[in-house]
Amino acid sequence: EALSNSLAAADIATTMHPYTNLRQHEKTGPVVISRGDGIRVYDEHGKEYIEGLAGLWSVAVGFSEKRLADAAYQQMLKLPYYHTFSSKAHEPSIRLAEKLVEMTPENLTRVFFTSSGSEANDTIVKMMWFMNNALGRPKKKKFLARTKGYHGITVASGSLTGLPINHRDFDLPAIPVRHLTCPHFYRFGAEGEDEAAFTARLLAELESVIAEEGADTIAAFIGEPLIAAGGVLPPPAGYWEGVEKICRANDIVLIADEVICGFGRLGTPFGCQKYGFTPDIMTLSKQITSSYMPLAAVVFSEAIYQAIADNTATIGNFGHGFTASGHPVATAVGLENLAIIEERDLIGNAARLEASFQAGIRSFSDHPLVGEARGTGLIGAVELVADKATKRPFAKAGRAGAIANVIGHEEGLIFRSIGDQLALCPPMIATEDDVKEIMTRMARTLERLTGAVAQEGLE
Ligand code: PMP
Repeated sequence: EALSNSLAAADIATTMHPYTNLRQHEKTGPVVISRGDGIRVYDEHGKEYIEGLAGLWSVAVGFSEKRLADAAYQQMLKLPYYHTFSSKAHEPSIRLAEKLVEMTPENLTRVFFTSSGSEANDTIVKMMWFMNNALGRPKKKKFLARTKGYHGITVASGSLTGLPINHRDFDLPAIPVRHLTCPHFYRFGAEGEDEAAFTARLLAELESVIAEEGADTIAAFIGEPLIAAGGVLPPPAGYWEGVEKICRANDIVLIADEVICGFGRLGTPFGCQKYGFTPDIMTLSKQITSSYMPLAAVVFSEAIYQAIADNTATIGNFGHGFTASGHPVATAVGLENLAIIEERDLIGNAARLEASFQAGIRSFSDHPLVGEARGTGLIGAVELVADKATKRPFAKAGRAGAIANVIGHEEGLIFRSIGDQLALCPPMIATEDDVKEIMTRMARTLERLTGAVAQEGLE
């Protein structure tokens, strides 16, 4: 009997993802992925898929990198675990922290490790609150974020996330946060407005929210350089330069959530470099270890570090940390993974593949169901619509995306359906031939989708 059948019941409790429809899952069970090789994964029946989402936007080096397995094994033998409480440390965490400081923009000099992106963003919230207490400005605690931004799923990071599923169903936000207009011109640009006017409107909104709330109440602005999990939404030209300028003028800390953009996804080492801004804090995860081990990091400026360190003299230690903070096996794997990214020039590879990958994505613009085909570097998406001319979405939101997902599986291509947006983000070891094959499978998926959508009478 297939593992997926025997596992179906038990699996509910163990592998439930926030976006799993539980009743559907009970009926159909999971797709059990049992093996990986390069950019491909195989299910328990031996069916081959191209992992077109890099395993939830995570895996730079592919699914069969023995050097990472070996790094984990060697570290397990040497020192499988030690904590970082009370001034303890170990070599891999120190070396990885040094490496991150070396790789990230010059102004970022300090590192705090966590195990997940959500924990990292929760850590940033607490750092900002702690810092502003230290600086004698206890009112300066609010956050600015964006609709459709994704920053995690825990209570504080989920509050920063700007997706309705988070807010409606979980009584969030639970921390003071204002969500600004999503910087996606196709969906949020007004009728008759060009992209430059759209950028100007978003920046005017930011300034007016700051004026309304009072700059002395706002701690930080957080954003993904390119909003990824919200639908792969590149910002309009001039947006980030404008945001940075306004944050500086109002003494608001600028946080780049680089969990997906970081380590080359956009063809530059970090997403902020693609869009020409310099954050005070960066959140890193996923491709830091290619997700072979859970690990995330907050990398931040010396000024923030100094304010926090000073505060420990008056109100005690920075009382925050996790059992697995800077875990030696995870950080050892991270070091080896970053060495591989450098040796094989995978960031350069993403930059070189950008032309063919983006041309492939944009070739779907002509498809009758595709409203917008977009992306940058080695990440892209097509947005399905009921009416191309008016951009009208399907009344039954997400159904076309769900059908596309099923067809994609049959065609051997794993991508992510975000409602009716189909996101692609292949591992960074991909080749030109891989890009061609991904686009071929996507084209077949979209061809079959037209008939399937018509048959369901979706409108
Ligand atoms: N920030 C961004 C930009 C993310 O995409 C994610 C996860 N998709 C997170 C934070 C949260 O990371 P985690 O799932 O590891 O908690």
